[in-house]
Amino acid sequence: MNIVDLKPGHSVEGDDIAAFRSETKGQKYVYLLAGVHGDEVEGVYVLQQLVDWLKDNDDYQLPTIVVPILNVDGYRAGTRVNAHGVDLNRNLPSTSWTDEAREPKYNPGAKALSEPENIFLEKLFSKFTPGIILTMHSWKPMVNYNGPCKDIAEILHKHNNYEVCDDIQGHPTPGSLGDYAPEKYSSPVLTFECPIISETKALKDIWEESEAGFKEVMLSENIKAYI
Ligand SMILES: [Zn+2]
Repeated sequence: MNIVDLKPGHSVEGDDIAAFRSETKGQKYVYLLAGVHGDEVEGVYVLQQLVDWLKDNDDYQLPTIVVPILNVDGYRAGTRVNAHGVDLNRNLPSTSWTDEAREPKYNPGAKALSEPENIFLEKLFSKFTPGIILTMHSWKPMVNYNGPCKDIAEILHKHNNYEVCDDIQGHPTPGSLGDYAPEKYSSPVLTFECPIISETKALKDIWEESEAGFKEVMLSENIKAYI
């Protein structure tokens, strides 16, 4: 995949939010996204490894948009939320959006789409229509899918044995990407939850656990079917 830089977005604190696309354009795009929650370094690392591999791989030519770290301020500060204290994965304008937060860390913002990071993401979506979105997080190892992309989740599961679920059980996510993109763009969302780094598990181990699964997914006929 050869890449072209896109005009960066800007965070609350004015930092660039880098984004790029494949040279190949299309009607719809595979989105690869990480760092929505700034303290989830595992997901950022996994995406970086995956994208490095894609850049060296001529067999992968699907129209693709990459946002390596959406919440750049939170990533720098080591916080889940952005510099306004908002959870970007509760701030998208889905019909489920609510101004009530179960806990402060789920602060949805004063209104849906109030945050510059999400406005940037939405701008990308409206210009480059998503066909499927892979978004990397970290929590407990899990492959969660919203919309009909169970086949992709199962390919990953086959390699890493992470639990596959169609919503995060008992864990409603109003204003999340998983609620928003299927509704607005008919684009399924695969939310990949990495395990958390520990004494026995380094970032490299977390990538290696899922490396074969991601490589199979990206070169599969399954992923092509979404574009
Ligand atoms: Zn997260």
